[in-house]
Amino acid sequence: MELDEFRRGLDGWLDAHADELAPPYEGAGALDEQVAQISKVKRLTFDAGWMRWGWPDRVGGFGGSTLLRAYLGEALTTRELVEPGIASLTEVLAPTMIDYARPELAAVMVPRLLCGEENWCQGFSEPGTGSNLGSLTCRAVRADGGWRVTGQKVWTSLAQFADRCVLLTRTGTVESAHRGITALFVDMDAPGITVRPIGSMHGVDEFCEVFFDDVAVPEDRTLGDEGQGWAVAMDILPYERSTALWQRGAYLHRRLEELIAAAPPGAIDAGALGEVTQLVYAFRARSRATQHRLASGGQLGAETSIDKVMLATAEQALFDLVADAMPLQLAVADDPVDRRWRSEYLYSRAATIYGGSAEIQRNIIARRLLGLGDDR
Ligand SMILES: Cc1cc2nc3c(=O)[nH]c(=O)nc-3n(C[C@H](O)[C@H](O)[C@H](O)COP(=O)(O)OP(=O)(O)OC[C@H]3O[C@@H](n4cnc5c(N)ncnc54)[C@H](O)[C@@H]3O)c2cc1C
Repeated sequence: MELDEFRRGLDGWLDAHADELAPPYEGAGALDEQVAQISKVKRLTFDAGWMRWGWPDRVGGFGGSTLLRAYLGEALTTRELVEPGIASLTEVLAPTMIDYARPELAAVMVPRLLCGEENWCQGFSEPGTGSNLGSLTCRAVRADGGWRVTGQKVWTSLAQFADRCVLLTRTGTVESAHRGITALFVDMDAPGITVRPIGSMHGVDEFCEVFFDDVAVPEDRTLGDEGQGWAVAMDILPYERSTALWQRGAYLHRRLEELIAAAPPGAIDAGALGEVTQLVYAFRARSRATQHRLASGGQLGAETSIDKVMLATAEQALFDLVADAMPLQLAVADDPVDRRWRSEYLYSRAATIYGGSAEIQRNIIARRLLGLGDDR
């Protein structure tokens, strides 16, 4: 199906099913409500076929350009049917599952993610390992028929709702650094896993500590080969830093329009508004180019750090403008819409951390794209 035809068909279908698709809450909703809403929207759009376009048929898709699924994410976000950050996890994790899981495993699991039957999480960061992922210590040792995993992850978004986890484990020596890492696809209800949500300042307790105590993982849940976990991580991160952010660009655009409508007359500084508008549009232009590169068969790599820096810069500048234009609503007002502005302002501070911090992205740009400094 061509993009124009998809757009027209999808927009008409979303109009016709607006009541059925609408969230049952006002404002942002609580986290469990947001997760349930995304599952509902995925199920409805999967059953109607829209969610299947842009994914290969070997994982239950209808094929077609990846631009089709990008437009679906944009349309659902613009209509406020899904929370863009949580919804984008599918774009982060599914492409790598398709590339690295055994074909039989991907064929069973990916459709469950697409249709909203399951949620997955990403177990990379640890208490002593974030930016320096190559030093992770959560250990997997060989056991009968697979692996036994012991260790801890942290900042694992939505682990409390997840059915599966894409988990990075240490299988070589610590000295083997990124060469001694293996990626596993773990059932979150396996005996020995404990999940503890962490309180967040914006009031949405999105991420968790996850503890693994001698957890059995079958051999056929290894993603790629033993020792290939770094390649799996390097496959996921470019999606997380670029194509998964396309719908976030649509969300920023919508919030920019809402700010202009909601701010008291004269409250927005015209120069600052011009600056933020430029940042939001520049990000969308960059993100559009990345989507087209993926759609035409290009590989995503280090250049996606530019997308991530631009997204974080635009998001924080936009919500700084919200804080300047509506300081009282942001600080103390308590209706659902103002609470949402406040929560989103606070969450925007995380944009320079998640998916790899802004400093790390700038290091990648400097070393790998511009050839500056020492990359040994
Ligand atoms: C909202 C949110 C959701 C997240 N979800 C997940 C998830 O689902 N799964 C997951 O695995 N992780 C997740 N994370 C964790 C995230 O990936 C890490 O926080 C991030 O990679 C930074 O690692 P760190 O927190 O250990 O900070 P550190 O690596 O300790 O960095 C601390 C500071 O030092 C700077 N720094 C570190 N090294 C360098 C360097 N070499 N050069 C210059 N500056 C440097 C960093 O930029 C940062 O400012 C999430 C984080 C957030 C905020």
